[in-house]
Amino acid sequence: MSKILVTRSSMPELTEYMNEIESLWDSRWLTNMGIKHKELQKELQKYLDVASVELLTNGHMALELTLQAMNLQGEVITTPFTFASTTHAIVRNGLTPVFCDIDPVTYTIDAEKIERLITDRTCAIMPVHVYGNVCNVEEIQRIAHKYELKVIYDAAHSFGETYKGRGIGSFGDASCFSFHATKVFNSIEGGAVCFRDERLGNVLYELKNFGIHGPEEVSAVGANAKMNEFCAAMGLCNLRHVEEEIAKRRQVTERYLEHLEGVEGLQLNAPQPEVKSNYAYFPVVFEEKVFGASRAEVFDKLAENGIGARKYFYPLTNTFSCFHREYDVNETPVALHISKRVLTLPLYADLALEDVDRICEIILSCRT
Ligand SMILES: *Cc1c(COP(=O)(O)O)cnc(C)c1O
Repeated sequence: MSKILVTRSSMPELTEYMNEIESLWDSRWLTNMGIKHKELQKELQKYLDVASVELLTNGHMALELTLQAMNLQGEVITTPFTFASTTHAIVRNGLTPVFCDIDPVTYTIDAEKIERLITDRTCAIMPVHVYGNVCNVEEIQRIAHKYELKVIYDAAHSFGETYKGRGIGSFGDASCFSFHATKVFNSIEGGAVCFRDERLGNVLYELKNFGIHGPEEVSAVGANAKMNEFCAAMGLCNLRHVEEEIAKRRQVTERYLEHLEGVEGLQLNAPQPEVKSNYAYFPVVFEEKVFGASRAEVFDKLAENGIGARKYFYPLTNTFSCFHREYDVNETPVALHISKRVLTLPLYADLALEDVDRICEIILSCRT
């Protein structure tokens, strides 16, 4: 049996990509906001249904430079149930993360618990649309407005989604996407910030290019985070097929549900009302005593059969050794509970439905 990894990057036909990059051999313009960069920026602005888009090298730099561009100081309320990037972006800006617990059904920040964490040092909220589950954007907006806080969404999992018919990237002061190879839409590596405030866009544009303001003026201590032309070209190709990719992911998801829905001791991702999903992940929370097998047992059994599942997100970011036990994990008990029990199962557009059958058979056979 061949191995099944947890994800597999989407790629266009080789000829499509070759056609896309051919003109670069004439122009010799490989990076620094070339034609492909501008074209992808325009196409994404339309597809994501947002006011403006700034393209970057990756999703992490999108988060990190957005915080820098907003010139924030103090505390940022966020979630520990996320990828390292979210918390690192806060800490690398000299800001202090304040961890809020998560909702036990959507795994996103529990908006009801945000207000009690606000102090006179709080400057922003950084929620994550975990697994493509949309945060409680209305309540977060209400709180942000009341306390005059910025909202920066980590939208890395939510490419192509809409909520109440609106592009998911249009919520908050900014939404940051990742176009990493493992995401629903990829540009090999890449990322974007979506926003309405053109001043923020201008600052981001300079920060991604060393803070260079003009030929003889450097006005900010920026980074180098420009998306190059080869990545933008890959993005242009993949964007043409993304709807089809999402439709295939939906089929895989539905096949999983046929086997696993209603099984006692398994918590599956609940569809959200008024959300057009992108079927980014298939997380399963294993309640050992009810299901009859632990997350570890299922993980090992799948691995024995050459199937890669992922403990995503485990460990919580507030337990990372780089933070030297600075944060108390007991303050986020729901996140701790979920992170000890969750596995994301293999999910990508071309995953064969027969393989889904086999994966589910193995999982269900773990029960004692
Ligand atoms: C992938 C991811 C990022 C970082 O994106 P990169 O493009 O890999 O830098 C940030 N946050 C979350 C939740 C992610 O999944």
